[in-house]
Amino acid sequence: MTDTVSTPAAGWFGSFGGQFVPETLIAALSQLDDAWSEAAKDPAFTDQFESLLRHYVGRPTPLTDAPRLTERMGGGRIWLKREDLAHTGAHKINNTIGQVLLAHRMGKRRIIAETGAGQHGVATATACARFGLACEVYMGAEDVRRQSLNVFRMRLLGATVHEVADGSQTLKDATNAALRDWMGSVESTHYVLGSVVGPHPFPKLVRTLQSVIGREARVQCLDRIGGLPDVVVACVGGGSNAAGIFHPFAEDDDVRLVGVEAGGSGDAPGQHAAPLAFGLPGVLHGSRSYVMQDDDGQTADVHSCSAGLDYPGVGPEHAWWKETGRVEYLRVGDDDALEAFQLLSRMEGILPALESAHAVAAAMQLAAEMDPQSTVLINLSGRGDKDVIEVKSLLDRR
Ligand SMILES: *Cc1c(COP(=O)(O)O)cnc(C)c1O
Repeated sequence: MTDTVSTPAAGWFGSFGGQFVPETLIAALSQLDDAWSEAAKDPAFTDQFESLLRHYVGRPTPLTDAPRLTERMGGGRIWLKREDLAHTGAHKINNTIGQVLLAHRMGKRRIIAETGAGQHGVATATACARFGLACEVYMGAEDVRRQSLNVFRMRLLGATVHEVADGSQTLKDATNAALRDWMGSVESTHYVLGSVVGPHPFPKLVRTLQSVIGREARVQCLDRIGGLPDVVVACVGGGSNAAGIFHPFAEDDDVRLVGVEAGGSGDAPGQHAAPLAFGLPGVLHGSRSYVMQDDDGQTADVHSCSAGLDYPGVGPEHAWWKETGRVEYLRVGDDDALEAFQLLSRMEGILPALESAHAVAAAMQLAAEMDPQSTVLINLSGRGDKDVIEVKSLLDRR
């Protein structure tokens, strides 16, 4: 992997980000950047987007207190930003609705996407159904096998699912396949990237679309709690739900921001999915950030009990936030996430996604050390209905 900084001025977060892509994609990426800048200034576009967020996605999502979990931890008050209540059950729809609306405006009739567990594929297929656009989703063959229900869901929504048989047959390979498709189809096709990763402008575009989470949460905290939260906690896979809730608080120096990577089953290579803790700077999927690499610099295998966190890279803005110290990054392992999954279900009647359960576990520990006047805000990125079979089999194995 190369560390040499190759291309343009825009799209850098310190030494992270950039556009490490073949020449054929550079034009498409700047066209996307320009289209977004124009759309963001056009009230016809922003009004339509806001209307969709409100009446289709179901925003604003609630801010919910967690009184029994708070009492049990015996410290700071715990609050939940309820992205689990957004349409399709997670934050991913905020990004896909925005990008598909933009693609529609750009006159692109065909949409492609990568997906790991299928959550981003389902959210993309959903947005495409709403706009009547053709949708093709790349998914690793191993993931197609493990997540057959989401494959069926995408097909119900009218999407075509392409099985990718390369490499480890998972998300990394699906992303490579989608990028390859795009190189040959940029004229007619928009690639809806699913997180704050990839070449510029995707990290910025996806973060901007997801920032609705933090903007709402900020207003809701001022309104309900009478001030800003002391700590905001979110899980980090590629980093989009975390960037979305963190960014509107980034200038509030008194608000501590905590990202939670997947600690998996241990600290040895291949046992976790924590590139900010154990990775090295390198280039993956078109941008420079922290990447899990083996001794030869090849992208290494990662593990987490939650499919949404099982990615060897992380968004470049998180790499920068780590470097500048604005955000602290912790790790929560499979076992603690599983405990938090059960505890939030029992204490508050809310089943979190296994990804979100990582944030819940970290927030519980932080809250326990804080005084009762303080507040901890958790981004509950998704609901756990999709994970109950996996959780059952993990618990049965104990
Ligand atoms: C996909 C997913 C994640 C991880 O992706 P980020 O880009 O890091 O947010 C987290 N939570 C849920 C519920 C997801 O579906």
